[in-house]
Amino acid sequence: MGINPRIEINLDKIRHNVKVLKGLYGKKGIKITGVVKGVFANHKVAKVLIESGIESLADSKISNIEKMKKANLKAIFILLRTPAMSEIQKVVEFADISMNTEIEVIRALSAEAVKQKKTHEIILMVEMGDLREGTLLKDVPAIIREVLTLPCIKVSGIGTNLTCYGGVIPTEKNMDVFSTFVKNIKRQFGLPLTYISGGNSANYNWFMNTADVGEVNNIRLGEAIFLGCETVNGKTIPKLFSDAFCFIAEVIESKLKPSVPYGQRGKNAFGEVLSFQDRGIIRRAIVGVGRQDVLVSGLTPILPLEILGSSSDHIILDAKKVHLKVGNEVAFSLSYGALLTAMTSPSINKICISQMRESVEDHSDSPTLKNFLTSIQSKNALLEPVQNALILNRK
Ligand SMILES: *Cc1c(COP(=O)(O)O)cnc(C)c1O
Repeated sequence: MGINPRIEINLDKIRHNVKVLKGLYGKKGIKITGVVKGVFANHKVAKVLIESGIESLADSKISNIEKMKKANLKAIFILLRTPAMSEIQKVVEFADISMNTEIEVIRALSAEAVKQKKTHEIILMVEMGDLREGTLLKDVPAIIREVLTLPCIKVSGIGTNLTCYGGVIPTEKNMDVFSTFVKNIKRQFGLPLTYISGGNSANYNWFMNTADVGEVNNIRLGEAIFLGCETVNGKTIPKLFSDAFCFIAEVIESKLKPSVPYGQRGKNAFGEVLSFQDRGIIRRAIVGVGRQDVLVSGLTPILPLEILGSSSDHIILDAKKVHLKVGNEVAFSLSYGALLTAMTSPSINKICISQMRESVEDHSDSPTLKNFLTSIQSKNALLEPVQNALILNRK
């Protein structure tokens, strides 16, 4: 039996995705910053990105950057989110670069950088319409003017972010406005801006279709690397693996039961009143993970099973024609939200699989785990697509 619940991380597929994306973006002079928040800055995954030639890694949490620094990973570390005033000291200590939108914060970073005798670099994030983070274009020159007077702070880039909150898509039009703006700023201040950070995995279609990427020379990619897709239409990018991650949970109950609850009904544990379709008597299988561990709505069973619902620690499946038994393992593919939550949950075992090496986060001394790893190795399962391990029953 495996170590359950677990997420299997195929490092070779991630390595492949990075290689393809690097080649693709590199052709138009764009470097990739690897965004590792989706994998909770897992250091084995981060290491694969670095080994694949990615020079800069970004995360929205300074605690994750601290973790990677302490794991002795060598990269340029970028804090993706404007720093909170309460974390300035750590930001200067652990991040090489932070993305910023507030002059007050930049002043505090400067004061702290003086104290720590360091130069802290910043990328100014500008608002292009998505209405999450970003300084309005008209306010940027005044900020730069002041930043140029601050000690120990260097403006090393300008960035923008779309399709995260408002769903605004990167188009020829808004990306042109961005590039023209950057060109003017460069000219006005004579700044050598190293990072013109043009967006995220949602910029793929713009990138593929535009004749000119303008000033953009950097792109921040998370989902494209890990799940192999662009994020405007959710389409798989040609030649990429979309199954580098596989979520596995174990059946803890499997019974023929009615499909509609009986008795007087009110709200469930999450305050929801659900309606139920009567399918008669069905095989209901429960796997031992739930909303506390993973964004259940982001899981898709690989076999023809259906997720009926979930509570904090249970997912209830309609097993349909699959005769699931207690102890069987059920595999799921993950959305970005499911990936993010599973990787962040301490209850989910993270198992890295690679042709070159296989290893496990945290429990590496556990004898059960050692046996498990030996068993998958002995079955030569290391590089088999995880879909083939639909129901795993490894003894
Ligand atoms: C999360 C994030 C990204 C990465 O987005 P993907 O869709 O995973 O590529 C890039 N930039 C910022 C500012 C982010 O917060």
